[in-house]
Amino acid sequence: MRGSQFRKACLDGQLMTRPGVLLPVLQRWSCHNCGGCCREHEITITQEEKRRIEGQNWSIADGVAADRELIVSQGTAWRLNHQDDGACVFLDQSGLCRIHSKFGEAAKPLACRLYPYAIHPAGHMVTTSLRFSCPSVVQNLGEPVTSCRSSIEALSKEVVPAGYQAPEAPELRPGQPLQWPDMTRVLAFLDRGLADTAVSFLTRLTRILSWIELLGKVEGSVVAGDQLAKILPLLYEASVRAYPQDESPETAPSGLGRVMFRQLVAQLIRHDTAVARNSGLSARLRLLLQGLRFTLGRGRVPTLPDPESVRVAFVERAGVAEVAASATFRQLEQPFGGRNPELDQLFTRYFQVKLQGLHFCGPAFYQFSVIEGFQSLALMYPAVLWTARLRATKEGRNTLQRRDVEAALATLDHNYGYSPVLGMNASRQRIRQLAQMQQIAVLCAWYSR
Ligand code: SF4
Repeated sequence: MRGSQFRKACLDGQLMTRPGVLLPVLQRWSCHNCGGCCREHEITITQEEKRRIEGQNWSIADGVAADRELIVSQGTAWRLNHQDDGACVFLDQSGLCRIHSKFGEAAKPLACRLYPYAIHPAGHMVTTSLRFSCPSVVQNLGEPVTSCRSSIEALSKEVVPAGYQAPEAPELRPGQPLQWPDMTRVLAFLDRGLADTAVSFLTRLTRILSWIELLGKVEGSVVAGDQLAKILPLLYEASVRAYPQDESPETAPSGLGRVMFRQLVAQLIRHDTAVARNSGLSARLRLLLQGLRFTLGRGRVPTLPDPESVRVAFVERAGVAEVAASATFRQLEQPFGGRNPELDQLFTRYFQVKLQGLHFCGPAFYQFSVIEGFQSLALMYPAVLWTARLRATKEGRNTLQRRDVEAALATLDHNYGYSPVLGMNASRQRIRQLAQMQQIAVLCAWYSR
């Protein structure tokens, strides 16, 4: 579905009333076997999947380790075990899945078959987003996602079984419920704001942030039905009048704004694998110290290992520098030339996939309201550009290249919407406070220079 079709379907009220699966049209994907997802993720399995895998009768002759369980308990659930280096027990030396090789795709657990798709129920529809932690997604490599409709529809039936109770729409702001038809009206205007390529991505983002700030102030009784339908275009036009064209705002973020922003980046960038989580007190202490150094923002940026998928796809295959300790926090505050049509295109695709897949609010994003969720998504823009600066600095450059930004986006999207830390009350308060201090648009502009 193209952007304009998406908006039309939203405004006609088709999206949430006609059963079906909504796919992102701008996006391509095929697996390029970097092996990253098999090393970075913890695969929880159902009782039925446990029975199926046990019934496959794995032995040393198949290459699996003799000295460890293939399946281990995790609280009341089960998960696939890891090898010492963090890889799934079923990952072979050549980076392929042994279950897939021996029994075919269908024999794998649902979580493995699903990645990098993220399928969410939305009223009577099912939306599909993608995880940009997969390097092939971020680089837009492979088949158009629309050509995989039948396999995605089959997956969606497993994720959202028949008879599933349609969920409530996300709140507009905390405590302000929305009905699905009103939610689709709001979505249509968010999408319209992103699609206006006559201006830069930064200007579009700034307009939307000002538009949703106005929407957040509208009296509760007005944000429903016909009244909402009348007010949305007026607010949108007001935001366009406020930011009619591209400018180069150079206002520096406040001291507190920068501290909160670096804390957010520290949570997005941390390497949160099962192995890291289970490696005891010293690993947790290291994470704590890293967080402290990001909060202080002085001296050198701590060394942070790349996720495996980024290491293989970008460092090994594309020659991007590994992030090292050679950058100082101060260096990353200089201009890096982050505003250009190529990067705008990448961010537009990322935002549209997350927006159309409802991967920024509600059950897919820590139950955030639409406004908080969009503000949180908007902060990914400066966070990714900050992380890309770290990569460019390592190579001695003070201008960004597309691959720096792609690698940074793949790194940060791993945690976006999935790290429990980002859904905690303190993280939510941080987004609210940054919005109240009018710092979100300022941060977007500052790190796009
Ligand atoms: S991260 Fe993406 S490209 Fe790499 S193995 Fe997983 S699905 Fe394939």
